[in-house]
Amino acid sequence: NPLQGAQFVLAAHRVNQLPADVGAEVAFAGRSNAGKSSALNALTGHKSLARTSKTPGRTQQMVAFSLPGVVQDEMSQAAPTRLIDLPGYGYAKVPEELREHWRQEIDRYLHDRKSLRGVVLIVDIRHPLKEFDRTMLEFCFGTLLPCHVLLTKADKLSRNQAAQALAALRKQLDASTPVTAQIFSSSEGTGVEAAREAVMRMLHG
Ligand code: GDP
Repeated sequence: NPLQGAQFVLAAHRVNQLPADVGAEVAFAGRSNAGKSSALNALTGHKSLARTSKTPGRTQQMVAFSLPGVVQDEMSQAAPTRLIDLPGYGYAKVPEELREHWRQEIDRYLHDRKSLRGVVLIVDIRHPLKEFDRTMLEFCFGTLLPCHVLLTKADKLSRNQAAQALAALRKQLDASTPVTAQIFSSSEGTGVEAAREAVMRMLHG
């Protein structure tokens, strides 16, 4: 597992507190409680790299994890690779001011971060494409930033229902956009290998 060596680097409240903007990174985004932390743990093979919780919205930070792989920068020097866990979005009990802060920081991150190579968007398969998800997808359409959607908690549906949810999502995505999607379940390990490959493709092209 190429993501196994992931290690916590830092937690940031602002984009400018993140690690130096060199190399390549993939961001994980999603609504609170969609299963983002669980997906990060499943992909990296760590039990508690990202903190999962039953009280959504408590961890409002951007968290950087370093990866063992390197990419070549424009000077042909080895440059680092990372995963960035963006704060979960949309938890009702987060004060409006804080929500606005994160709306702005996520926006700034997406627009300014030069090392960003793609987004993994975590979506609960039972609640596809809420407003935050649509905004994220539209951003990716607009900037041609690759986006890979994990329809997670697939174990909550029958195989047939899960396949239908994926088909319905794909129907909504324009074939000309750089968005891919798959079924995923952290608890059953469904789609973990395919999701790792998607992350590695985004990082290493
Ligand atoms: P986050 O807020 O997006 O980081 O979500 P978490 O990863 O903390 O998960 C939120 C809740 O959903 C927790 O109770 C998890 O145990 C549960 N959960 C996450 N992924 C799955 C999954 O694939 N299947 C099931 N059944 N539950 C999951």
